[in-house]
Parts: sequence; structure tokens; C-alpha cells
Amino acid sequence: MITTRFAPSPTGRLHVGNIRTALHNWMLARKSGGRFLLRIDDTDAERSREEFVDAIRADLAWLGLAPDGEERQSQRLAIYDAAFVALRAAGRVYPCYESGQELDLKRKIALGRGLPPIYDRAALALSDAERAAKEAAGIAPHWRFQLDHAEPIEWEDGIRGHQHFDPAALSDPVIRRADGSWLYMLPSAVDDIDMGVTHVLRGEDHVSNTAVQIQMFTALLAAQHGARQNLPHFAHEALLVGSEGKLSKRLGALGCDAFRNKGIEPQALVALLARLGTSLPVEPIADRAALIESFDLSIFGRAPARFDDAELERINKAIIHQLEFAEVKDRLPGGMDEAGWHAVRPNLSHVGEAGEWWRHVTGPIEQPDFSGEDRAYLAEAVRLFVWGDDPWHALTGALKDATGRKGKALFLPLRQALTGMDHGPDMAELLPLIGDAEARARLERAAT
Ligand code: GLU
Repeated sequence: MITTRFAPSPTGRLHVGNIRTALHNWMLARKSGGRFLLRIDDTDAERSREEFVDAIRADLAWLGLAPDGEERQSQRLAIYDAAFVALRAAGRVYPCYESGQELDLKRKIALGRGLPPIYDRAALALSDAERAAKEAAGIAPHWRFQLDHAEPIEWEDGIRGHQHFDPAALSDPVIRRADGSWLYMLPSAVDDIDMGVTHVLRGEDHVSNTAVQIQMFTALLAAQHGARQNLPHFAHEALLVGSEGKLSKRLGALGCDAFRNKGIEPQALVALLARLGTSLPVEPIADRAALIESFDLSIFGRAPARFDDAELERINKAIIHQLEFAEVKDRLPGGMDEAGWHAVRPNLSHVGEAGEWWRHVTGPIEQPDFSGEDRAYLAEAVRLFVWGDDPWHALTGALKDATGRKGKALFLPLRQALTGMDHGPDMAELLPLIGDAEARARLERAAT
């Protein structure tokens, strides 16, 4: 059974990149009837905030990406301690005493010599006496995971294909700070083992983390931490970029709430992000089952995917034109019923605009100044106006015969008189909503 996870750090709102990762993990799990976990990566107590945890849950609910379980790293600290002890006993973790400044200097010197800024393992060479002296001087160690330089790192990436890293070209990662707090790397590997995660699908900014975490997995399994025998599958998605390069200050860089506030429907975001960067066309598909069905890691490209606000708006509009009354009724103006929704829906780019059209139905409306000729024509309309099943076609048919007008000359003064607008929803649908008495009154007012 497939188990995926979405592992945000609650240090801000979900942005479009996180939403995409969450969506793809959800689809991957749903496609195979597997599990999709939400893992809150909140080991950084200083930057993590409860309000963001709540916001992440609310955003996932709004997007319709319900997790099958939730875990929190802050509640699993004892488990990471145990893993740490096991790795230390196995000789894979070592204490380091360099200050941030010293490390910066080392990096600069390496770069100045044209060398990659890889940690030189100076702390590994310390004798017991030297270490004791550091501690006696009050320097608490931070901890690094010791990569095994003799064990080449390889994996078949679900998107990038065969990946190969030389461990000697990587720094031993710091896994724990001097105050005992955890950096992301080890807790995540521990959790992926413990939670039975079978597929780790994330952004390509994590590729080098995966290289390191593969050795952590192997070391943890060798130290018999966790019952698992096999590593998860890894897949790394190309990053999202904005239409002009970086995801700048536009919609794409904002939080999930910004999409909602702008009137973007979750179905639109889902339809766009499900296929952006794949070989399938982005289409306004509201049916999730169809999106899930066509989801496949092998169709993802390796080039950065372009996220374009204008494309999202286009998809949004097309999605809105498919939404049923029941899906939107809580957001419609009071009194607007199913017929009203169907009448105005084709004219909307955002559901919030429904109220504006609805005001033209309920009134009062403002009519333009009509020419004498048009007033005479509208007076004729009052005379010929009869209510029935299809009052619009009855009226325009009768007027056409009586006046010989056609096209714009036939329709526009009527639309203006009845709605105050030059354009808008189909009059055949609007007129029954305006109603017999009100429509007649509007025509009479326009004719005088
Ligand atoms: N908390 C990490 C992040 O937000 C999780 C990365 C991962 O998926 O392992 O980048």
C-alpha cells in the first residue's frame, strides 16, 4: 500500500509550491487507494506557530485534500533522541565545536582556493582531551551525521531518473544544534521510516537532502531503528517559476488565503497544479477522479514549470461556469436561487461577481437616456409585452414583426431598459427572474 506525506513547516501560509506538493502527494495516494499523511515539521520551536498549523489544516480542507492522518514532529522528540543514540552508538554521529563564524571563514577560504565549501571534518580529528577541553571551556557541541564516503549514493528518481552522488562531495550535515534542537534532516528520515512512507515526493530543492537522507535511512535500518527493511521511492519535481522568471510578488508567491480572497476556486488551483509541468494539457477539469486517473509521475518534465496568474484566472473562469448551485449557494446574495445562478454563471470570472448581476435583477437599476426613437420603440414594447413561459422570445418576436427592427437595434434598448446594462447574462433567462410586474414597470419608465 502506498503511503505519501506532505510535510510543511508551520512557519507561514502554504504558497503555491507547497500546495502543488500537497496535491501531488494526495493524488499519488488516492490513485492507488493508499494513505496521505500530513506531517507538521515543527521542530523549530522559535519559528513554528500554532496559527500556521491551523491555517495549513484549513487550507488543505479548502483545497479538498483531506489527510488520512496527522503527525507532529514536536510530539516525537523522544523518538529522535532514541535514533540519535542509536546512530551515535554506531559511530555515525559526532560532536562539533566550531562557531558559525569559524565555519563561515572555512567556507570562504575553500571558495577562495577554488574548492567546494565542504566541511573539513576537523571535529572528527579531535582527541578526547581536546573535546574535554572545549566542553570545560563551556562550548556545547552541535552534531553532524557522518557520511560514509565508501558508500556511493544512488537512487532511481521517479521524475529525474537515475541519480548518483559522491558522498565525499557533500558536507556531513548538522543534524542537531548545541541547544539540543533538531534540524530538519534526521527527524524527517526517522519519520519516513516509522510512518511507513513509501513515496517521498517533493521539490527538487531537496535532491541533495535525499542523498544525505538515503545514508541516514541505511544507517538507521542497520542500527535497527524501526522495523522497515526498504527505503522509500523518491521523486523530485522541477520547481515552479513565475511567468516572468521567479515567482515574484504576484499571486503565485502569496498564501493560499490570497487565492481564496481573490475569488479563485480550489478546483481551479487543483486543475492547474495537477498538470502544470506535465506532458498533459492544463484543462479546466473539475472532476477530481479524472485528474487522479491521469496522474502519473512519468509524465512530469524536468524543466521548471511556469505558473501564470492569467492562466489560473482562465481556468478559474471555466471552472466557475461548471459549478452547480449547491456548490456555491452559501456565497450567493440572499434570494438568488438556482435559476438565478444558472442565468449569471456564464458571465462570471469570480463567484463574488454574482451579487452585482443579481442587483440588476432585483433593482433598482439606472437606465440610460434613450433617444426619442428608442422611447417610441420601448412604448411599443410595453404594448406588446405579455407574460408567459418564455416572455423574452415572445416580446422580441412580436417587436421584430411590428417594427422591422433586428439585431442590436431590436435587442439593445430592451436590455438597457430591463437591466440598465449594455451587456450581460442571457435575457431569456434574466427576464423571468425580473418578473412580470417589475419588467413592465422598467419598460414603462424607459418609454416615458
Ligand atoms: N519540512 C520540510 C519542508 O517544508 C519537508 C521537506 C520534505 O518533504 O521532506 O521543506
